[in-house]
Amino acid sequence: MIFQPADAGGDEPPPYEPHLAFTAPAWRKLVLYVLNCPFEIGGLGLVEARGQDFLVTDVLLVEQDVNDIATRLDSGAVSALLLQLLESGRDPGELKLWWHSHAHEAPFWSGVDEQTIERFQNDFMLSVVSNHELRFLARQDHYAPRRTTWVWVDKPSDGLESSPEEVEAVRAEIAARTRHVPRDRTRIF
Ligand SMILES: [Zn+2]
Repeated sequence: MIFQPADAGGDEPPPYEPHLAFTAPAWRKLVLYVLNCPFEIGGLGLVEARGQDFLVTDVLLVEQDVNDIATRLDSGAVSALLLQLLESGRDPGELKLWWHSHAHEAPFWSGVDEQTIERFQNDFMLSVVSNHELRFLARQDHYAPRRTTWVWVDKPSDGLESSPEEVEAVRAEIAARTRHVPRDRTRIF
């Protein structure tokens, strides 16, 4: 994990660490995606500002290649998602969350994650990483000027009740949108 550099001793107060909350449906989707994929998986989400804090209002799965240790967003799939949002009257400007799961591994910011975060073209981006134990880390990255702020995740609950039909539907959706690719052993973890 990379920690924020310590304040060099100036008079600047430490940056505010925002809270990230979820609507009940958004939380439900996120938890079901995380728990029902045996591999790394990720997607985007819609976020509304709530003062200095944020509320995730929807969680979206995009087409992607996945393997045991990495998930990469397909830029074509992201463009298609932007179009869909526009067509359904939603504001693509709210697409400010990147979420992903490390499956059975601990949540942390890997080299691939840092590269993914660097590539977003946005005024800021919130990133969330989770795993099968539903442990969460979150951060906010600003791009001009570049800085990272740690974010508190307000978990509505540690688990949720889900019906077999709901789990089956989520697994089918994951299977339709992900392509399992062999692990690239030379990739930096
Ligand atoms: Zn990761």
